[in-house]
This record gives sequence, C-alpha cells and structure tokens, in this order.
Amino acid sequence: MGKVFVFDHAKCNGCRNCQIACKDEHVDNDWSPWAKPQPDTGQFWNRIEERVCGQVPKVKVSYVLHMCQHCGDAPCMAAAPDAVYRRDDGLVIVDPEKAKGRRELVEACPYGAIFWNEELEIPQKCTGCAHLVDAGEMPHCVDVCPHEAIWFGEEGEFPAEIAAAEPLVPERAAVDKPRVYYLNLPKRFLAGIVIDPEADEVITGAKVTAENLDTGDVLTTETDEFGDFWFLRVAEASWRVYVEADGYLTRAVDASTVDEDRNIGPIGLYES
Ligand code: SF4
Ligand code: SF4
Repeated sequence: MGKVFVFDHAKCNGCRNCQIACKDEHVDNDWSPWAKPQPDTGQFWNRIEERVCGQVPKVKVSYVLHMCQHCGDAPCMAAAPDAVYRRDDGLVIVDPEKAKGRRELVEACPYGAIFWNEELEIPQKCTGCAHLVDAGEMPHCVDVCPHEAIWFGEEGEFPAEIAAAEPLVPERAAVDKPRVYYLNLPKRFLAGIVIDPEADEVITGAKVTAENLDTGDVLTTETDEFGDFWFLRVAEASWRVYVEADGYLTRAVDASTVDEDRNIGPIGLYES
C-alpha cells in the first residue's frame, strides 16, 4: 500500500496552477532532508504537456501531467541504492546529501523526472511535498488544482480509480510499477462532415458507421446539426467509414488513426 497520486485528464483544463505551485513551494525553499531548493528556471518537477490533435478545423487540445511516478520498482533506486530511497509512505526521495555529484542519476529515470541542479551539483525531483505530507497536508500541486484533477492519498482510498486507470507509459508499467494513476488519457479520434455537394448543404442525422478493419469492431453515430460526426477515444487502427442517409447513395471512405487523430473532412453524398 502507501501513498499514490491520481490524475484525471478529463478534469484538467491546462491552467498550470499545479506547475506554478511546485515552483512556489520549492524555489528558494530548503526542505531538507527531502529536498534542497529548486532553481527558478530549468526544472519542472511537475509539468503539464499540451497535446494538439487532429487537423483543422477539427482540432482538440488536451493536457497531460508529467511528474515523478514514485515507482514501486524505481529504476533510480536501482541505479543508486545508496542515494535514492523509498519512505515508508511510498514516496521516492533522492537524498540531496548522498546524491551530491551523481549527475548520472538524471539519465536513470525513464520518465525524465530527475533534473540536474548545476549550482548545488545535485540531482533533484518531486518529493511529493514530503514536508507537507508529514505535516498532515496535501502536496501543493494537489491543493491548488481548481478542478480537483490531481488527487493524493492512501492507495486504499482509490480502488475504483486505480482499477480504471492506465499508466502514462504503458510499455514501462510492468517494469517500473508507477504509482501515479491516470484516468481518461487522450485517445485517438475519427471525425468528419457529411455534405450534399449539389445542394451545397450539410446533411444532418446521417448514420455513420466506422468499422475497425483490424479487429472487426463496429461503432455508430449520427451527424449533428452541423453535419459533423465524431468518434472519440477510438483505437489506433485502419477504418472503413460508411455514411447513409435517406434519399442518398451510401458511401464508404477509408481512414487511418494509426499515426494520428483523423479528420476525414467533407464526405459528399449524392441523391439516389
Ligand atoms: S492545476 Fe489542475 S487543472 Fe490546472 S493544469 Fe494542473 S492538473 Fe490541470
Ligand atoms: S519516475 Fe523516475 S525519478 Fe520517479 S521514482 Fe520512477 S525512476 Fe525514480
């Protein structure tokens, strides 16, 4: 058991209060034995990544939290067992005294969560605001989030969230056993607009069926009042999209979401 973080991507609007709060808490503040002061530039112990997906005009922006994953089987601990340790509550700490001069630790973290402090000559990272946790408070990033997108607490407090969560880097999850759990991470979308080119109008209420050519799975939706259709959170796959509407010939279009989100653009239907 022990402490974990949960980040709900669906609640984050990218305000970056959490990022600023980390600076506020750690720049010029010495929280030894957990951390020496963070420099005011060059380090982001937590960071909100902005992801822009799709093609104009169907574009979505999303925000993903990056931070130390306080791994259950931490590569940084394996690289320097004399200088990196786990507290009883699960937080992974780079000891600022014992890690002095150990620049190689920056490379030991596969998540890019360890930074080098040139002035103090120490590797540094998120401590989970251990000094606040010890005082019975929340990590500052959790405390300031206006949308309650970041949670922190005992693992047993979040059974449903942990069951529904996915790791930030799936291919590393089994190795590192990260203890930051992510909900609703962005997935691919497949979108388009259905039009009647002869009438120069959009077609509303058209039935749109997307067949996953890799698995055979089928999704359906209808065009909205603007003639648009969206399939959200779809697999990375090759698709055949069928469009049907009363009085029109059915049309099929192929599209791929293997490499990126896909806006198919206008799909013209012609009267039958
Ligand atoms: S403070 Fe909350 S809503 Fe704002 S960027 Fe951070 S996680 Fe997202
Ligand atoms: S995310 Fe990196 S710094 Fe944090 S515990 Fe895992 S290996 Fe260590």
